[in-house]
Amino acid sequence: MRTKLIAGNWKMNASKPMVRELVAGILAQLDADRDAEVMVLPPSPYLSLVHSLTESTPVLMGGQDLSAHESGAYTGEVAGSMLADCGCSYVLVGHSERRSLHGEGDELVAAKFVAAQASGLQPILCVGETLEEREAGQTEAVVSRQIQAVIDQAGIAAFARALVAYEPVWAIGTGQTATPDQAQVVHAAIRGQLAAGSATIGGRVRILYGGSVKADNATELFACEDIDGGLIGGASLTAESFMAIYRAA
Ligand code: PEP
Repeated sequence: MRTKLIAGNWKMNASKPMVRELVAGILAQLDADRDAEVMVLPPSPYLSLVHSLTESTPVLMGGQDLSAHESGAYTGEVAGSMLADCGCSYVLVGHSERRSLHGEGDELVAAKFVAAQASGLQPILCVGETLEEREAGQTEAVVSRQIQAVIDQAGIAAFARALVAYEPVWAIGTGQTATPDQAQVVHAAIRGQLAAGSATIGGRVRILYGGSVKADNATELFACEDIDGGLIGGASLTAESFMAIYRAA
């Protein structure tokens, strides 16, 4: 039994008043009887504030990115150990905005995955194809290549302490969502690839779907066999829309 997870990627959106209001709204709508977890992924400068507001609550916290390096002369970078120090237990690696806007390739993403685990964080490995790749019939090959790069560097056993997020690039922030069938096919392929290395890990790993998830499409997506929750961008910025998705899980 895999517990559903609803994770909110705030991207580069926050201010102290907004954080206080959003976290208070999330906490007010948490339901102890619901078998779903909630995570927030704030921008780095707000991690300590979010940690102070959530540390004695069930709300989980993660970073949006980390350096592949441990420490040193890497101006502007944030190490996994720093995220852990600020209260994170998770971190995104390979979000499509990092891949496309910051030129992060499969090898760097895999190095970040390894660095995250070395700092005691659980990486959430984001994978997904562009529209061009989907239209060329390459979806599964692209996603499989992105996953394999991490298996090659980290080993299959590392996925016992990691999550995967399937986020078709064409669905992120566009209002266009993969249909439940389209998403389920890719989720099953990801699980199958991991299960080929270890049946136990393939069966246990949580695979989130991300890409314009809203309350009105979440129920159908989350009902799919291999979809274990969502990575939510735009709709995670108000407690009302985020927690409506949580209730759908
Ligand atoms: C994301 O940024 O991971 C994401 C899924 O964004 P959105 O929900 O806005 O498409």
